[in-house]
Amino acid sequence: MAVEFLCKVCRGHLKVKTSIILTATNLKNRSEKGLVFLDPEIGNYTHTTHPSFQIKEGDEYIFTCPVCNAQLNSMKYLHLVRILMKDEEGKESSIYFSGIGGEKCTYKIRDDRVEMRTGPDAVIYNKYFDVPEEDRKYL
Ligand SMILES: [Zn+2]
Repeated sequence: MAVEFLCKVCRGHLKVKTSIILTATNLKNRSEKGLVFLDPEIGNYTHTTHPSFQIKEGDEYIFTCPVCNAQLNSMKYLHLVRILMKDEEGKESSIYFSGIGGEKCTYKIRDDRVEMRTGPDAVIYNKYFDVPEEDRKYL
């Protein structure tokens, strides 16, 4: 079984061939939107867009599922976006990545445990994941 990436809302397949395909909209200027092809390899931050649409450094983007149009930005963790990953054994985890252009960080969370944390900017969001569960309600 190949690794699959799913929408957290409709469970539609987001990975087609060699890319995860999402729709992105610039939060500051909603007329700036387009498809984004992400590399499914965790820690690889190359992305592809049509030349008419560029992800700008430092701007925040709303990512949506191209299948059901649901917003994938996390309500719980500000500035992060969540999709589902299903591994070769069928085990599911949440993948969080930054919705801010140019920020490179990825978290893989399974059963409330951080299984993987990667990228030079991961330190920015450590505060979301390093706190013991019993203290999170105070944040
Ligand atoms: Zn969906």
